[in-house]
Amino acid sequence: MGTKGTEIVGVDIKELIGLLNKALADEWLAYYQYWIGSQVAKGRMRGIVAEELMEHANEELKHAGMLVERINQLGGTPLLEPKAWYEQTNCGYDTPSDPNTKKLLQQNIKGEQCAIEVYKKLSDFVKGKDPVTYNMAIEIMTEEVEHEEDLEAILEDMQTAVS
Ligand code: FE
Ligand code: FE
Ligand code: MG
Repeated sequence: MGTKGTEIVGVDIKELIGLLNKALADEWLAYYQYWIGSQVAKGRMRGIVAEELMEHANEELKHAGMLVERINQLGGTPLLEPKAWYEQTNCGYDTPSDPNTKKLLQQNIKGEQCAIEVYKKLSDFVKGKDPVTYNMAIEIMTEEVEHEEDLEAILEDMQTAVS
């Protein structure tokens, strides 16, 4: 834990660590939802959808790493067991029980919209008070916005390609 680095944080650190851990739970669930979705995807544009889902899975895993790095810097303990993901999540887990590509896209778009809200709230919480967490939240939110747009674009192509 960085002494000066923690001193300059102008919000309640315990509360902040709690928010970071909740976002960490979301990232792991998003990771698995994308990863398993890419393995089971069937139907229209399967190859394109599977590839995009796998790319997003890797980016969610990267977000989880960024959150853990910040939690560690703040002297917190990152969630240590998978059961905590379900207990702490903001966005939940949408089981891809229907492997149809259109359905998977819709589920993951919903997840991204929730993630965007989570990082918007986190960035608002630390704005002007913790520039390091703020920059991280903006960086992640920017990628979640790209994720939403990527999935919406594929869904749109899918709906116009075949009537
Ligand atoms: Fe993410
Ligand atoms: Fe995402
Ligand atoms: Mg993408």
